[in-house]
Amino acid sequence: MKSDPSPRIPFPRRPRTLIMPALVALTVLLLAITLHGVTARRNLLPHEIAFSIFSAAGVLAIALSRFLDASLAHRRRHLWGWLGALTTGIGLSALTILAPAEMLPLVNVVLDLAVIIIAILVGRAAAFLAIAITASTELAVLCSSSHTPLQWLQYIALPLLGVILVETIARLSRATSDRIHRLELIHEFSRQVTSSLETGQVLSLLNATIQKIIEADSYYVGLLQDDHIALDLFYDDGEYFNAVRIPTKSTLAGWVIEHQKPLLIPDLRRDEKPVGLTGYLIGKRRPSLSWVGVPITTARLKGIIALSSYTPEAFDHNDLELLENLAQHAALALDNALRYAEVEELSHLDSLTQVYNHGYFLEVLQKQTDEALLSNTPLSLIMLDIDHFKRYNDTYGHLAGDEILRRLCAIIRRHIKRTDAIGRWGGEEFVISLPTATGMQAFQVARRIQQSMAATAIHSREGKTIPAPTVSQGIAVFPDEADEIFPLIDLADRRLYIAKGRGRNQIEPREEHWRIARP
Ligand code: GH3
Ligand code: MG
Ligand code: MG
Repeated sequence: MKSDPSPRIPFPRRPRTLIMPALVALTVLLLAITLHGVTARRNLLPHEIAFSIFSAAGVLAIALSRFLDASLAHRRRHLWGWLGALTTGIGLSALTILAPAEMLPLVNVVLDLAVIIIAILVGRAAAFLAIAITASTELAVLCSSSHTPLQWLQYIALPLLGVILVETIARLSRATSDRIHRLELIHEFSRQVTSSLETGQVLSLLNATIQKIIEADSYYVGLLQDDHIALDLFYDDGEYFNAVRIPTKSTLAGWVIEHQKPLLIPDLRRDEKPVGLTGYLIGKRRPSLSWVGVPITTARLKGIIALSSYTPEAFDHNDLELLENLAQHAALALDNALRYAEVEELSHLDSLTQVYNHGYFLEVLQKQTDEALLSNTPLSLIMLDIDHFKRYNDTYGHLAGDEILRRLCAIIRRHIKRTDAIGRWGGEEFVISLPTATGMQAFQVARRIQQSMAATAIHSREGKTIPAPTVSQGIAVFPDEADEIFPLIDLADRRLYIAKGRGRNQIEPREEHWRIARP
Protein backbone atom coordinates (compact mmCIF):
# COMPACT_ATOMS: atom_id res chain seq x y z
CA MET A 1 0.00 0.00 0.00
CA LYS A 2 1.27 3.44 -0.85
CA SER A 3 1.87 5.76 2.06
CA ASP A 4 -0.33 8.45 0.52
CA PRO A 5 -3.93 7.25 0.85
CA SER A 6 -5.00 9.06 -2.33
CA PRO A 7 -1.95 9.35 -4.54
CA ARG A 8 -2.19 11.62 -7.60
CA ILE A 9 -2.40 9.26 -10.50
CA PRO A 10 -1.12 10.73 -13.76
CA PHE A 11 -3.84 11.03 -16.34
CA PRO A 12 -3.34 9.06 -19.40
CA ARG A 13 -0.69 6.46 -19.12
CA ARG A 14 0.57 7.40 -22.59
CA PRO A 15 0.21 11.18 -22.98
CA ARG A 16 2.41 11.12 -26.07
CA THR A 17 -0.14 9.03 -27.96
CA LEU A 18 -2.95 11.28 -26.80
CA ILE A 19 -1.36 14.57 -27.82
CA MET A 20 0.02 13.31 -31.12
CA PRO A 21 -2.92 14.36 -33.39
CA ALA A 22 -3.08 17.82 -31.79
CA LEU A 23 0.70 18.17 -32.03
CA VAL A 24 0.81 17.24 -35.72
CA ALA A 25 -2.08 19.60 -36.55
CA LEU A 26 -0.48 22.40 -34.54
CA THR A 27 2.90 21.95 -36.25
CA VAL A 28 1.32 21.98 -39.71
CA LEU A 29 -0.70 25.11 -38.89
CA LEU A 30 2.30 26.95 -37.45
CA LEU A 31 4.39 26.06 -40.47
CA ALA A 32 1.59 27.28 -42.73
CA ILE A 33 1.36 30.57 -40.80
CA THR A 34 5.16 31.00 -40.90
CA LEU A 35 5.30 30.16 -44.61
CA HIS A 36 2.55 32.65 -45.30
CA GLY A 37 4.47 35.26 -43.31
CA VAL A 38 7.70 34.54 -45.17
CA THR A 39 6.26 34.31 -48.68
CA ALA A 40 3.74 37.15 -48.42
CA ARG A 41 6.50 39.68 -49.07
CA ARG A 42 9.92 39.04 -50.52
CA ASN A 43 11.74 41.61 -48.41
CA LEU A 44 11.17 40.53 -44.87
CA LEU A 45 10.59 43.21 -42.33
CA PRO A 46 12.20 42.72 -38.90
CA HIS A 47 8.84 42.15 -37.22
CA GLU A 48 7.99 39.45 -39.76
CA ILE A 49 11.27 37.66 -38.94
CA ALA A 50 10.39 37.90 -35.25
CA PHE A 51 6.92 36.56 -36.05
CA SER A 52 8.49 33.52 -37.73
CA ILE A 53 10.89 32.97 -34.82
CA PHE A 54 8.03 33.17 -32.29
CA SER A 55 6.00 30.73 -34.34
CA ALA A 56 8.89 28.33 -34.23
CA ALA A 57 9.28 29.03 -30.49
CA GLY A 58 5.65 28.00 -29.94
CA VAL A 59 6.27 24.68 -31.67
CA LEU A 60 9.53 24.29 -29.81
CA ALA A 61 7.88 24.94 -26.45
CA ILE A 62 5.25 22.33 -27.04
CA ALA A 63 7.72 19.84 -28.47
CA LEU A 64 10.02 20.45 -25.51
CA SER A 65 7.33 19.72 -22.97
CA ARG A 66 6.44 16.64 -24.98
CA PHE A 67 9.95 15.22 -24.87
CA LEU A 68 10.78 16.45 -21.41
CA ASP A 69 7.63 14.76 -20.21
CA ALA A 70 9.15 11.36 -20.79
CA SER A 71 12.66 12.04 -19.60
CA LEU A 72 12.48 14.32 -16.54
CA ALA A 73 11.65 13.60 -12.94
CA HIS A 74 8.12 14.61 -11.99
CA ARG A 75 8.97 17.96 -10.29
CA ARG A 76 11.35 19.18 -12.98
CA ARG A 77 9.03 17.96 -15.70
CA HIS A 78 6.27 19.98 -14.11
CA LEU A 79 8.47 23.09 -14.05
CA TRP A 80 9.42 22.65 -17.69
CA GLY A 81 5.77 22.10 -18.52
CA TRP A 82 4.90 25.47 -16.96
CA LEU A 83 7.75 27.15 -18.80
CA GLY A 84 6.45 25.56 -21.99
CA ALA A 85 2.97 26.92 -21.28
CA LEU A 86 4.42 30.38 -20.65
CA THR A 87 6.51 30.33 -23.84
CA THR A 88 3.53 29.12 -25.85
CA GLY A 89 1.40 31.93 -24.44
CA ILE A 90 4.06 34.55 -25.26
CA GLY A 91 4.79 33.02 -28.70
CA LEU A 92 1.13 33.00 -29.65
CA SER A 93 0.71 36.56 -28.29
CA ALA A 94 3.54 37.64 -30.57
CA LEU A 95 1.73 35.96 -33.46
CA THR A 96 -1.42 37.81 -32.48
CA ILE A 97 0.41 41.15 -32.62
CA LEU A 98 2.50 40.47 -35.71
CA ALA A 99 0.29 38.39 -37.93
CA PRO A 100 -2.10 40.13 -40.30
CA ALA A 101 -5.57 40.56 -38.80
CA GLU A 102 -7.11 37.99 -41.17
CA MET A 103 -4.88 35.34 -39.62
CA LEU A 104 -6.10 35.82 -36.03
CA PRO A 105 -8.75 33.05 -36.20
CA LEU A 106 -6.02 30.68 -37.37
CA VAL A 107 -3.80 31.75 -34.45
CA ASN A 108 -6.76 30.97 -32.18
CA VAL A 109 -7.03 27.47 -33.62
CA VAL A 110 -3.31 27.04 -32.89
CA LEU A 111 -4.00 28.28 -29.36
CA ASP A 112 -6.78 25.70 -28.85
CA LEU A 113 -4.55 22.90 -30.08
CA ALA A 114 -1.76 24.11 -27.81
CA VAL A 115 -3.98 24.29 -24.74
CA ILE A 116 -5.22 20.74 -25.37
CA ILE A 117 -1.59 19.60 -25.26
CA ILE A 118 -0.74 21.69 -22.21
CA ALA A 119 -3.89 20.59 -20.36
CA ILE A 120 -2.98 16.93 -20.93
CA LEU A 121 0.74 17.23 -20.25
CA VAL A 122 0.92 19.87 -17.53
CA GLY A 123 -2.55 20.54 -16.21
CA ARG A 124 -5.50 22.83 -16.14
CA ALA A 125 -3.85 25.87 -14.56
CA ALA A 126 -0.93 25.96 -17.05
CA ALA A 127 -3.39 25.70 -19.95
CA PHE A 128 -5.39 28.63 -18.54
CA LEU A 129 -2.17 30.64 -18.26
CA ALA A 130 -1.46 30.16 -21.98
CA ILE A 131 -5.06 31.13 -22.84
CA ALA A 132 -4.94 34.19 -20.55
CA ILE A 133 -1.68 35.53 -22.03
CA THR A 134 -2.82 35.07 -25.64
CA ALA A 135 -6.42 36.20 -25.11
CA SER A 136 -5.40 39.42 -23.30
CA THR A 137 -2.96 40.30 -26.12
CA GLU A 138 -5.70 39.60 -28.65
CA LEU A 139 -8.05 41.83 -26.72
CA ALA A 140 -5.51 44.63 -26.85
CA VAL A 141 -5.09 44.14 -30.63
CA LEU A 142 -8.85 44.04 -31.16
CA CYS A 143 -9.37 47.20 -29.14
CA SER A 144 -6.77 49.07 -31.19
CA SER A 145 -9.02 49.19 -34.26
CA SER A 146 -12.75 49.05 -34.88
CA HIS A 147 -14.46 45.70 -35.50
CA THR A 148 -17.98 44.54 -36.23
CA PRO A 149 -19.75 42.53 -33.50
CA LEU A 150 -19.49 39.45 -35.72
CA GLN A 151 -15.72 39.90 -35.99
CA TRP A 152 -15.51 40.26 -32.20
CA LEU A 153 -17.47 37.08 -31.82
CA GLN A 154 -15.20 35.25 -34.26
CA TYR A 155 -12.10 36.28 -32.33
CA ILE A 156 -13.50 35.56 -28.88
CA ALA A 157 -15.18 32.26 -29.71
CA LEU A 158 -11.93 30.35 -30.09
CA PRO A 159 -10.26 31.28 -26.76
CA LEU A 160 -13.64 30.50 -25.17
CA LEU A 161 -13.58 27.12 -26.86
CA GLY A 162 -10.10 26.69 -25.39
CA VAL A 163 -11.48 27.25 -21.87
CA ILE A 164 -14.22 24.68 -22.48
CA LEU A 165 -11.71 22.19 -23.87
CA VAL A 166 -9.42 22.59 -20.86
CA GLU A 167 -12.32 22.18 -18.43
CA THR A 168 -13.52 19.05 -20.23
CA ILE A 169 -10.03 17.56 -20.24
CA ALA A 170 -9.55 18.42 -16.55
CA ARG A 171 -12.84 16.76 -15.62
CA LEU A 172 -12.08 13.70 -17.73
CA SER A 173 -8.66 13.53 -16.15
CA ARG A 174 -10.11 13.75 -12.64
CA ALA A 175 -12.71 11.06 -13.40
CA THR A 176 -10.04 8.79 -14.87
CA SER A 177 -7.65 9.33 -11.97
CA ASP A 178 -10.45 8.64 -9.57
CA ARG A 179 -11.37 5.44 -11.32
CA ILE A 180 -7.76 4.26 -11.49
CA HIS A 181 -7.34 5.04 -7.80
CA ARG A 182 -10.44 3.06 -6.88
CA LEU A 183 -9.32 0.14 -9.04
CA GLU A 184 -5.93 0.27 -7.35
CA LEU A 185 -7.63 0.05 -3.97
CA ILE A 186 -9.57 -3.00 -5.13
CA HIS A 187 -6.36 -4.51 -6.45
CA GLU A 188 -4.72 -3.83 -3.10
CA PHE A 189 -7.68 -5.47 -1.36
CA SER A 190 -7.38 -8.59 -3.52
CA ARG A 191 -3.64 -8.71 -2.81
CA GLN A 192 -4.14 -8.44 0.94
CA VAL A 193 -7.03 -10.90 1.24
CA THR A 194 -5.10 -13.68 -0.45
CA SER A 195 -3.14 -14.02 2.78
CA SER A 196 -6.24 -13.76 5.02
CA LEU A 197 -7.57 -17.10 6.14
CA GLU A 198 -10.13 -15.89 8.63
CA THR A 199 -13.58 -14.59 7.74
CA GLY A 200 -13.21 -11.79 10.30
CA GLN A 201 -10.01 -10.59 8.69
CA VAL A 202 -11.56 -10.64 5.20
CA LEU A 203 -14.54 -8.65 6.49
CA SER A 204 -12.39 -6.03 8.14
CA LEU A 205 -10.38 -5.54 4.92
CA LEU A 206 -13.64 -5.36 2.99
CA ASN A 207 -14.93 -2.75 5.43
CA ALA A 208 -11.83 -0.59 5.00
CA THR A 209 -11.97 -0.88 1.20
CA ILE A 210 -15.68 -0.03 0.90
CA GLN A 211 -15.09 3.07 3.04
CA LYS A 212 -12.27 4.18 0.76
CA ILE A 213 -13.85 3.55 -2.63
CA ILE A 214 -17.47 4.62 -2.31
CA GLU A 215 -19.19 7.20 -0.18
CA ALA A 216 -22.19 5.58 1.48
CA ASP A 217 -24.15 6.27 4.66
CA SER A 218 -24.72 2.60 5.21
CA TYR A 219 -23.37 -0.69 3.89
CA TYR A 220 -23.46 -4.36 4.72
CA VAL A 221 -22.03 -7.72 3.73
CA GLY A 222 -24.56 -10.50 4.19
CA LEU A 223 -24.37 -14.24 3.69
CA LEU A 224 -27.36 -16.41 2.92
CA GLN A 225 -28.35 -18.80 5.71
CA ASP A 226 -31.53 -20.81 5.12
CA ASP A 227 -34.34 -18.27 4.69
CA HIS A 228 -32.49 -15.21 5.94
CA ILE A 229 -29.37 -13.18 5.26
CA ALA A 230 -26.98 -12.88 8.19
CA LEU A 231 -25.19 -9.53 8.14
CA ASP A 232 -21.63 -10.32 9.12
CA LEU A 233 -20.65 -6.68 8.64
CA PHE A 234 -23.18 -3.89 8.97
CA TYR A 235 -22.39 -0.19 9.20
CA ASP A 236 -25.04 2.47 9.40
CA ASP A 237 -24.48 6.20 9.81
CA GLY A 238 -21.28 5.99 11.86
CA GLU A 239 -22.18 2.88 13.85
CA TYR A 240 -21.56 -0.84 13.47
CA PHE A 241 -24.35 -3.29 14.25
CA ASN A 242 -24.03 -6.96 15.19
CA ALA A 243 -26.21 -10.00 14.69
CA VAL A 244 -28.62 -8.33 12.26
CA ARG A 245 -30.61 -10.52 9.90
CA ILE A 246 -32.69 -9.69 6.85
CA PRO A 247 -35.37 -12.00 5.50
CA THR A 248 -34.83 -13.10 1.91
CA LYS A 249 -38.50 -12.84 1.05
CA SER A 250 -39.61 -9.55 -0.53
CA THR A 251 -36.39 -7.65 0.27
CA LEU A 252 -33.98 -5.99 -2.16
CA ALA A 253 -31.09 -8.06 -0.76
CA GLY A 254 -33.11 -11.26 -1.12
CA TRP A 255 -33.90 -10.35 -4.75
CA VAL A 256 -30.20 -9.77 -5.56
CA ILE A 257 -29.19 -13.12 -4.04
CA GLU A 258 -32.07 -15.05 -5.59
CA HIS A 259 -31.61 -13.62 -9.09
CA GLN A 260 -27.82 -13.39 -8.86
CA LYS A 261 -28.02 -9.95 -10.46
CA PRO A 262 -26.83 -6.54 -9.32
CA LEU A 263 -29.46 -3.94 -8.54
CA LEU A 264 -29.13 -0.15 -8.59
CA ILE A 265 -31.98 2.04 -7.40
CA PRO A 266 -30.90 5.69 -7.61
CA ASP A 267 -34.06 7.01 -5.95
CA LEU A 268 -36.05 4.61 -3.79
CA ARG A 269 -39.01 7.02 -3.63
CA ARG A 270 -39.30 7.42 -7.36
CA ASP A 271 -37.65 4.53 -9.22
CA GLU A 272 -39.37 1.26 -9.83
CA LYS A 273 -38.25 -1.67 -7.73
CA PRO A 274 -38.54 -5.28 -8.91
CA VAL A 275 -42.13 -6.42 -8.42
CA GLY A 276 -43.28 -7.34 -4.91
CA LEU A 277 -40.34 -5.83 -3.03
CA THR A 278 -40.98 -3.73 0.02
CA GLY A 279 -38.63 -1.60 2.08
CA TYR A 280 -36.95 -3.29 5.06
CA LEU A 281 -35.64 -1.05 7.81
CA ILE A 282 -32.48 -2.07 9.68
CA GLY A 283 -29.83 -0.24 11.70
CA LYS A 284 -30.87 3.29 12.56
CA ARG A 285 -34.34 2.67 11.17
CA ARG A 286 -34.17 5.67 8.88
CA PRO A 287 -35.29 4.99 5.32
CA SER A 288 -32.53 5.12 2.68
CA LEU A 289 -33.15 7.01 -0.55
CA SER A 290 -30.67 5.28 -2.84
CA TRP A 291 -29.51 1.68 -2.87
CA VAL A 292 -27.07 -0.53 -4.73
CA GLY A 293 -26.44 -4.23 -4.17
CA VAL A 294 -24.27 -6.85 -5.88
CA PRO A 295 -24.28 -10.61 -5.35
CA ILE A 296 -21.39 -12.57 -3.86
CA THR A 297 -21.36 -16.05 -5.32
CA THR A 298 -19.17 -19.12 -5.12
CA ALA A 299 -19.89 -22.85 -5.09
CA ARG A 300 -20.23 -22.89 -1.29
CA LEU A 301 -21.73 -19.50 -0.45
CA LYS A 302 -24.20 -16.93 -1.60
CA GLY A 303 -24.36 -13.43 -0.28
CA ILE A 304 -24.52 -9.74 -1.02
CA ILE A 305 -22.66 -6.47 -0.65
CA ALA A 306 -25.11 -3.59 -0.44
CA LEU A 307 -24.70 0.15 0.00
CA SER A 308 -27.32 2.74 0.73
CA SER A 309 -27.52 6.45 1.23
CA TYR A 310 -29.93 8.90 2.84
CA THR A 311 -29.62 11.09 -0.23
CA PRO A 312 -31.06 10.19 -3.65
CA GLU A 313 -28.81 9.55 -6.68
CA ALA A 314 -25.84 8.74 -4.43
CA PHE A 315 -24.66 5.87 -6.65
CA ASP A 316 -24.25 5.43 -10.40
CA HIS A 317 -23.28 2.66 -12.80
CA ASN A 318 -19.58 3.26 -12.16
CA ASP A 319 -20.13 2.49 -8.48
CA LEU A 320 -22.09 -0.60 -9.40
CA GLU A 321 -19.31 -1.85 -11.68
CA LEU A 322 -16.72 -1.16 -9.01
CA LEU A 323 -18.76 -3.01 -6.39
CA GLU A 324 -19.14 -5.99 -8.71
CA ASN A 325 -15.39 -6.06 -9.11
CA LEU A 326 -14.91 -5.90 -5.34
CA ALA A 327 -17.58 -8.58 -4.79
CA GLN A 328 -15.73 -11.00 -7.06
CA HIS A 329 -12.55 -10.69 -5.01
CA ALA A 330 -14.50 -10.76 -1.74
CA ALA A 331 -16.33 -13.92 -2.81
CA LEU A 332 -13.08 -15.77 -3.44
CA ALA A 333 -11.59 -14.59 -0.17
CA LEU A 334 -14.70 -15.50 1.88
CA ASP A 335 -14.86 -18.87 0.17
CA ASN A 336 -11.22 -19.52 1.04
CA ALA A 337 -11.74 -18.50 4.65
CA LEU A 338 -14.79 -20.75 4.92
CA ARG A 339 -12.93 -23.68 3.38
CA TYR A 340 -10.04 -23.10 5.76
CA ALA A 341 -12.44 -23.05 8.74
CA GLU A 342 -14.02 -26.30 7.54
CA VAL A 343 -10.65 -28.00 7.14
CA GLU A 344 -9.57 -26.76 10.53
CA GLU A 345 -12.80 -28.00 12.10
CA LEU A 346 -12.32 -31.39 10.43
CA SER A 347 -8.77 -31.61 11.72
CA HIS A 348 -10.21 -31.41 15.26
CA LEU A 349 -12.64 -34.27 14.76
CA ASP A 350 -12.40 -38.02 14.85
CA SER A 351 -13.37 -39.20 11.37
CA LEU A 352 -15.51 -42.17 12.49
CA THR A 353 -17.56 -40.59 15.27
CA GLN A 354 -17.20 -36.84 14.56
CA VAL A 355 -16.39 -36.14 18.22
CA TYR A 356 -13.17 -34.27 19.15
CA ASN A 357 -9.96 -36.18 18.71
CA HIS A 358 -7.61 -36.78 21.63
CA GLY A 359 -5.40 -33.71 21.05
CA TYR A 360 -8.17 -31.20 20.47
CA PHE A 361 -10.22 -32.50 23.39
CA LEU A 362 -7.27 -31.74 25.69
CA GLU A 363 -7.15 -28.15 24.32
CA VAL A 364 -10.87 -27.70 24.91
CA LEU A 365 -10.69 -29.23 28.39
CA GLN A 366 -7.85 -26.87 29.34
CA LYS A 367 -9.94 -23.85 28.28
CA GLN A 368 -13.02 -25.17 30.08
CA THR A 369 -11.13 -25.76 33.34
CA ASP A 370 -9.57 -22.28 33.11
CA GLU A 371 -13.05 -20.79 32.75
CA ALA A 372 -14.34 -22.96 35.61
CA LEU A 373 -11.62 -21.57 37.88
CA LEU A 374 -12.44 -18.01 36.84
CA SER A 375 -16.17 -18.44 37.35
CA ASN A 376 -15.67 -20.55 40.49
CA THR A 377 -17.83 -23.38 39.16
CA PRO A 378 -17.16 -27.15 39.08
CA LEU A 379 -16.48 -29.22 35.96
CA SER A 380 -17.18 -32.94 35.88
CA LEU A 381 -15.42 -35.45 33.69
CA ILE A 382 -16.73 -38.87 32.64
CA MET A 383 -14.34 -41.50 31.29
CA LEU A 384 -16.30 -44.21 29.42
CA ASP A 385 -15.19 -47.54 27.96
CA ILE A 386 -17.24 -50.14 26.08
CA ASP A 387 -17.33 -53.48 27.85
CA HIS A 388 -15.86 -56.53 26.14
CA PHE A 389 -15.72 -54.70 22.86
CA LYS A 390 -13.11 -57.01 21.44
CA ARG A 391 -15.48 -59.91 21.92
CA TYR A 392 -18.29 -57.85 20.38
CA ASN A 393 -16.20 -57.20 17.29
CA ASP A 394 -15.20 -60.84 17.11
CA THR A 395 -18.84 -61.95 17.36
CA TYR A 396 -20.61 -59.41 15.13
CA GLY A 397 -17.82 -58.04 12.99
CA HIS A 398 -15.94 -54.72 12.90
CA LEU A 399 -18.62 -52.96 10.86
CA ALA A 400 -21.15 -53.63 13.60
CA GLY A 401 -18.53 -52.44 16.09
CA ASP A 402 -18.10 -49.20 14.14
CA GLU A 403 -21.85 -48.67 14.08
CA ILE A 404 -21.91 -49.08 17.86
CA LEU A 405 -19.21 -46.42 18.26
CA ARG A 406 -21.28 -43.98 16.16
CA ARG A 407 -24.49 -44.83 18.04
CA LEU A 408 -22.79 -44.40 21.39
CA CYS A 409 -21.57 -40.92 20.43
CA ALA A 410 -25.05 -39.97 19.19
CA ILE A 411 -26.48 -41.10 22.53
CA ILE A 412 -23.89 -39.12 24.49
CA ARG A 413 -24.65 -36.01 22.40
CA ARG A 414 -28.35 -36.38 23.19
CA HIS A 415 -27.69 -36.34 26.92
CA ILE A 416 -25.28 -33.41 27.18
CA LYS A 417 -25.44 -29.66 26.63
CA ARG A 418 -24.03 -27.75 23.63
CA THR A 419 -21.31 -26.31 25.86
CA ASP A 420 -20.16 -29.80 26.97
CA ALA A 421 -17.51 -31.67 24.98
CA ILE A 422 -16.89 -35.28 23.90
CA GLY A 423 -13.49 -36.66 22.93
CA ARG A 424 -12.40 -40.03 21.58
CA TRP A 425 -9.69 -40.90 24.05
CA GLY A 426 -8.65 -44.17 22.45
CA GLY A 427 -10.23 -47.01 20.42
CA GLU A 428 -13.50 -47.56 22.34
CA GLU A 429 -12.79 -45.18 25.15
CA PHE A 430 -14.46 -41.76 25.32
CA VAL A 431 -14.14 -38.79 27.62
CA ILE A 432 -16.93 -36.30 28.32
CA SER A 433 -16.43 -32.91 29.99
CA LEU A 434 -19.40 -31.23 31.65
CA PRO A 435 -18.62 -27.61 32.65
CA THR A 436 -20.66 -26.38 35.67
CA ALA A 437 -21.93 -29.94 36.39
CA THR A 438 -21.54 -31.35 39.90
CA GLY A 439 -20.53 -34.98 40.52
CA MET A 440 -24.18 -35.88 41.07
CA GLN A 441 -25.24 -34.24 37.81
CA ALA A 442 -22.43 -36.07 35.99
CA PHE A 443 -23.62 -39.33 37.59
CA GLN A 444 -27.12 -38.68 36.23
CA VAL A 445 -25.74 -38.07 32.74
CA ALA A 446 -23.67 -41.29 33.01
CA ARG A 447 -26.75 -43.22 34.09
CA ARG A 448 -28.82 -41.88 31.19
CA ILE A 449 -26.06 -42.96 28.78
CA GLN A 450 -25.99 -46.39 30.43
CA GLN A 451 -29.79 -46.71 30.14
CA SER A 452 -29.89 -45.52 26.55
CA MET A 453 -27.19 -48.02 25.59
CA ALA A 454 -29.21 -50.80 27.22
CA ALA A 455 -32.21 -49.79 25.09
CA THR A 456 -30.17 -49.66 21.87
CA ALA A 457 -29.95 -52.38 19.26
CA ILE A 458 -28.50 -52.48 15.76
CA HIS A 459 -29.28 -54.68 12.80
CA SER A 460 -26.91 -57.02 11.02
CA ARG A 461 -26.81 -57.21 7.23
CA GLU A 462 -28.97 -60.30 7.45
CA GLY A 463 -31.55 -58.25 9.35
CA LYS A 464 -30.87 -59.83 12.73
CA THR A 465 -31.22 -57.61 15.82
CA ILE A 466 -27.96 -57.23 17.71
CA PRO A 467 -28.03 -55.77 21.23
CA ALA A 468 -25.61 -52.91 22.07
CA PRO A 469 -22.78 -53.63 24.46
CA THR A 470 -22.74 -52.18 27.96
CA VAL A 471 -20.40 -49.41 29.06
CA SER A 472 -18.37 -48.73 32.21
CA GLN A 473 -17.84 -45.15 33.41
CA GLY A 474 -15.63 -43.33 35.90
CA ILE A 475 -16.34 -39.78 37.13
CA ALA A 476 -14.03 -37.13 38.63
CA VAL A 477 -14.76 -33.52 39.57
CA PHE A 478 -12.62 -30.45 38.99
CA PRO A 479 -11.27 -28.67 41.01
CA ASP A 480 -12.46 -30.42 44.22
CA GLU A 481 -10.92 -33.82 43.46
CA ALA A 482 -8.14 -32.73 41.07
CA ASP A 483 -7.17 -29.20 40.20
CA GLU A 484 -5.36 -29.88 36.92
CA ILE A 485 -6.51 -31.63 33.79
CA PHE A 486 -4.13 -34.62 33.74
CA PRO A 487 -4.70 -35.64 37.40
CA LEU A 488 -8.43 -35.17 36.72
CA ILE A 489 -8.32 -37.51 33.70
CA ASP A 490 -6.17 -39.95 35.64
CA LEU A 491 -8.67 -40.09 38.52
CA ALA A 492 -11.62 -40.63 36.15
CA ASP A 493 -9.61 -43.38 34.40
CA ARG A 494 -8.79 -45.16 37.68
CA ARG A 495 -12.44 -45.02 38.65
CA LEU A 496 -13.40 -46.43 35.25
CA TYR A 497 -11.25 -49.48 35.99
CA ILE A 498 -12.81 -49.79 39.43
CA ALA A 499 -16.17 -49.88 37.60
CA LYS A 500 -14.80 -52.63 35.32
CA GLY A 501 -13.62 -54.52 38.40
CA ARG A 502 -17.08 -54.25 39.93
CA GLY A 503 -18.37 -56.40 37.07
CA ARG A 504 -18.70 -53.86 34.18
CA ASN A 505 -21.86 -51.90 33.18
CA GLN A 506 -21.16 -49.81 36.30
CA ILE A 507 -20.55 -46.17 37.21
CA GLU A 508 -17.84 -45.33 39.72
CA PRO A 509 -18.23 -43.72 42.24
CA ARG A 510 -21.74 -44.88 43.05
CA GLU A 511 -24.61 -42.44 43.52
CA GLU A 512 -24.27 -42.52 47.34
CA HIS A 513 -20.74 -41.13 47.07
CA TRP A 514 -22.03 -37.87 45.61
CA ARG A 515 -24.82 -37.63 48.17
CA ILE A 516 -22.23 -37.67 50.93
CA ALA A 517 -19.31 -35.90 49.21
CA ARG A 518 -21.31 -33.42 47.07
CA PRO A 519 -18.30 -31.99 45.16
P1 GH3 B 1 -12.92 -54.27 28.44
O1 GH3 B 1 -14.31 -54.55 28.88
O2 GH3 B 1 -11.92 -54.68 29.46
O3 GH3 B 1 -12.76 -52.88 28.04
O4 GH3 B 1 -12.69 -55.21 27.21
P2 GH3 B 1 -12.47 -54.73 25.72
O5 GH3 B 1 -12.54 -55.91 24.86
O6 GH3 B 1 -13.44 -53.69 25.39
O7 GH3 B 1 -11.05 -54.12 25.77
P3 GH3 B 1 -9.80 -54.25 24.87
O8 GH3 B 1 -8.93 -53.06 25.18
O9 GH3 B 1 -9.19 -55.60 25.07
O10 GH3 B 1 -10.31 -54.19 23.41
C1 GH3 B 1 -10.70 -52.98 22.82
C2 GH3 B 1 -11.25 -53.34 21.48
O11 GH3 B 1 -11.86 -52.22 20.87
C3 GH3 B 1 -10.22 -53.83 20.53
C4 GH3 B 1 -10.66 -53.35 19.19
O12 GH3 B 1 -11.09 -54.42 18.38
C5 GH3 B 1 -11.87 -52.49 19.49
N1 GH3 B 1 -11.79 -51.25 18.76
C6 GH3 B 1 -10.97 -50.18 18.98
N2 GH3 B 1 -11.19 -49.22 18.06
C7 GH3 B 1 -12.16 -49.69 17.23
C8 GH3 B 1 -12.80 -49.17 16.08
O13 GH3 B 1 -12.55 -48.05 15.60
N3 GH3 B 1 -13.77 -49.92 15.49
C9 GH3 B 1 -14.09 -51.17 15.99
N4 GH3 B 1 -15.05 -51.85 15.38
N5 GH3 B 1 -13.48 -51.66 17.05
C10 GH3 B 1 -12.53 -50.96 17.66
MG1 MG C 1 -13.39 -51.87 26.44
MG1 MG D 1 -10.46 -49.85 26.27
